[in-house]
Amino acid sequence: MAASTLGVQRALGKSVIPSLVVVLGATGTGKSKLAIEIGKRLKGEIISADSMQVYEGLNIITNKVTAEEQAQCPHHMISFVDPLVKGLYATHFIWFVSLMQHIEDLHRQKKLPVIVGGTNYYIESILWDVLVDTGENRLENAQSGSFISKVELEKLGGLELHKRLNDVDPEMAAMLHPNDVRKIARSLQVYQETGVKHSCLLQKQKEQDGADGLGGPLRFSNPCIFWLHSDLDALDERLDKRVDEMLSLGLVKELKDFHQRFNEKKIQDNSQDYQHGIFQSIGFKEFHEYLTAGRDISQEDHEKLKIKGIEALKQVTRRYARKQNKWVRNRFLKRPGSNVPPVYGLDVTDVSLWEQTVLNPALDILDSLCKGEQPSVEPIKIEGEGLRNKRSHHMCELCDKVIIGDLEWTAHIKSKSHLHHVRKKRKAEETSEHQQGVGSDVPSAAKYQKQAGSTSYTPGSDSDTLEPGTHRNNTRDNEKEISEES
Ligand SMILES: [Zn+2]
Repeated sequence: MAASTLGVQRALGKSVIPSLVVVLGATGTGKSKLAIEIGKRLKGEIISADSMQVYEGLNIITNKVTAEEQAQCPHHMISFVDPLVKGLYATHFIWFVSLMQHIEDLHRQKKLPVIVGGTNYYIESILWDVLVDTGENRLENAQSGSFISKVELEKLGGLELHKRLNDVDPEMAAMLHPNDVRKIARSLQVYQETGVKHSCLLQKQKEQDGADGLGGPLRFSNPCIFWLHSDLDALDERLDKRVDEMLSLGLVKELKDFHQRFNEKKIQDNSQDYQHGIFQSIGFKEFHEYLTAGRDISQEDHEKLKIKGIEALKQVTRRYARKQNKWVRNRFLKRPGSNVPPVYGLDVTDVSLWEQTVLNPALDILDSLCKGEQPSVEPIKIEGEGLRNKRSHHMCELCDKVIIGDLEWTAHIKSKSHLHHVRKKRKAEETSEHQQGVGSDVPSAAKYQKQAGSTSYTPGSDSDTLEPGTHRNNTRDNEKEISEES
């Protein structure tokens, strides 16, 4: 391995190829470990792309690298935002500007940026031009307080927001469900800060050379992307074990301290909000009941609340890991278009084989890329299903419901509640036909089925690109991707 490392370093001396390394993978797959090894060997420095690690505090629950790990290789973008900071500096945009600065600095020093993520749409915004830059006006306006902040906007509620957006940017409004409060607020925010419709900015992005249906072109040529994946059973087991490790590292004490320092007062003031900033971090809100329990409950009941929190944390961690993997499949492996960099899969299922299955293949791939050769390992590619419109607007007049997304619409017209309305309407029509003796020219069921097949495609409406995922109207799983505060 020493020889190949040398080859890589020599190549890096000339120019940095690959332009950057991105280590993707669900929580618990050992991304940091690989990143540190790559960084140490290839004159690299690590940049965290995790929206929760930017905040000070909650080091255990947000899984920050330890001081020991930081000593092995420099890390950036960790613990630099005050947990109580509101809005502006905790935004995706500010994070992004700072991150780009780090990448530039490293490139200037002929060092290799190794990005470890983290938060899906943060990584996406590093690779592709998908982030809507609201320009210099943004800071000026924000500081003078001349616009309503996104958090304040969100408080107005979906219907009111949707109405406002419809007035200024009907194209965008048509792509968003009134319940999608965060996205609607974001679009309104873009409009008030730039005076330009969000839908126009997204459209412009997609009209650039090298753009695809999901956003603008790649920002850096030749990025090298690794995806750490694992058998699901092995991953689940590891995730549970990791929660137990967190507990032995002092998770409960960390949560209690943090709660006392930052959260207690908010709860007293009735201003707690687990939807923004570090407070939405996985593993914090799960302990809300435990942390806020009064002194009047018994020790035993208190202990029960703690166990309940731990179980909830395990569950939510598993769910989050699945979500992260799904995102890699949808936004990388199935991403249509020609501007998708190769993604190299590394199997982390068996930890005891880590060097053979993870580290050595990764170094070999980097070695080949540095020499300008094709790596002997093939990148992963899954055939995409093509662009499905996740943002198309459907109105079911029968149910008086707005449905966003083709897939959701198809599900709706097959749903029990819709079919119930169809039958009800048919019955009502039959009754009135009998009464009036007039035949109906189009049977109502057929009429609504027909509508389902003729959904219109709105160009460029597949995403607002900050984070993937459709708004599902009738599902229980209304859980939000963490930290969408851009
Ligand atoms: Zn319906």
